[in-house]
Amino acid sequence: MHSMVSSYMRQKLNSEQKGKPQSVKSLIKARLDENVFGLLERVAQVGERRDMSVYVVGGFVRDLLLNIPNQDIDVVAEGDGIPFAVHLAEEFGGAVKSHEKFGTSVVTLPDGCRIDVATARVEYYQHPGALPTVEKGSVTSDLFRRDFTINCMAVKLTGVDAFCLIDFFNAAADLKNREIHILHDLSFIDDPCRLFRAIRFEQRFGFKIGKQTESLMRAAIKKRAVDSLSGTRLFNEIKLLVKEKRPMHCIRRMRELDLLQFVSPEMLKDREEVETLERLGSVFSWASTITLPREPEIWRVYFLALFYFLEEDAFLKAADRLQLSARMKNSLERDRTTCRASLRRLQFQKEWEPKEVCRTFADLSIDAVIFLVALSSSSEIKRYANIYFTQYQGKSQPSLTGDDLVKMGMNPGPVFQSVFDALREARVMGRVKTREEEVALVEEQFLKP
Ligand code: ATP
Repeated sequence: MHSMVSSYMRQKLNSEQKGKPQSVKSLIKARLDENVFGLLERVAQVGERRDMSVYVVGGFVRDLLLNIPNQDIDVVAEGDGIPFAVHLAEEFGGAVKSHEKFGTSVVTLPDGCRIDVATARVEYYQHPGALPTVEKGSVTSDLFRRDFTINCMAVKLTGVDAFCLIDFFNAAADLKNREIHILHDLSFIDDPCRLFRAIRFEQRFGFKIGKQTESLMRAAIKKRAVDSLSGTRLFNEIKLLVKEKRPMHCIRRMRELDLLQFVSPEMLKDREEVETLERLGSVFSWASTITLPREPEIWRVYFLALFYFLEEDAFLKAADRLQLSARMKNSLERDRTTCRASLRRLQFQKEWEPKEVCRTFADLSIDAVIFLVALSSSSEIKRYANIYFTQYQGKSQPSLTGDDLVKMGMNPGPVFQSVFDALREARVMGRVKTREEEVALVEEQFLKP
């Protein structure tokens, strides 16, 4: 395994081996919530009883050293993690769900907290981009298979050296220097998800990607390593990036590293398109000052923004590449169409009547409203949105449905849109208040010869 380790790492490994085990018990006690500390102690007791070495690993340890709260407890058990997880669930009165093939389990505690349990393992990639094949190993090999030094520390929970930090790669120094380093030169080829994960941690913590790591990233991108990722994994990585606190920083970095080409070569090619996305931050702030029926889902807004500017053909190809669910694809398709129609209405019609305001906002999802505001250079859209959400919405929903109109003898077609426009407007203006009054309006305006 050491032959795979990069020269940077070899240097670090050597210096680490001279070090003494460092206890982080007082740090854990000082920084963690009492409940979390109690939980770790009980996990340790179960390990001791079963005579197993148990470790807490990964992001939890990283965030402990960074003093950032993290409730996601990832445990690695040397031996078989699955029976250990079953014992944990018995101890805590929780439920356990296991994945035999990967030797992993999730224990859900009665208070909803979860503990992920893995079996210490060595992983082999049968081909680049594939899911790993698993064999039993020790925590050392488990740590060597991880992505970045800062994510491959462990704290031992059992034995005489309980609560000692295991840090083979001197990640504590990388945390101090605010740097991200991979463990070996082929890391990004083995798993191109790490290209996106590097950006995630770089942007989340305001760290810098190490020089050698960044040049290996660029080389893997040039070799089109991302092409070997499944659509689902690629979608998931991008979704996680736009779910970060500063999604635009992550998007800018993906663009700068030319990672968006793997979704579509046309994605965010234009400076103007990027500028629209850059306006989203202030639109979210504005949206928090008005009463919306639900909070916008930030990652969905960014997804719409990424997909909006693509031509139909490129959009369909990109949706296929990411293996988007039919639901996600349809909702993007709908939002693209309604945003375009609303933008046209804004450009060609200066003053909107209530029915136009209603028609626009009744058809747009909340996420699309946010995007439309960023898209439109005029401030009018904000005014109309304010009017709609504070005065019209709720009041404007007709109680008649398409089925009702058919029962009244109408044939489905474009006329239905005109009927609903008229009903919404009449509701907003207070001209109709009941279902009976709606029926009367339809008969009067649309069914009378
Ligand atoms: P977050 O706070 O975003 O959850 P995390 O570090 O806990 O960050 P996870 O995606 O939950 O991230 O992964 C848990 C741990 O598993 C990581 O800390 C890392 O050690 C390891 N890991 C996850 N994905 C990979 C990967 N693609 N390659 C190697 N190791 C990985």
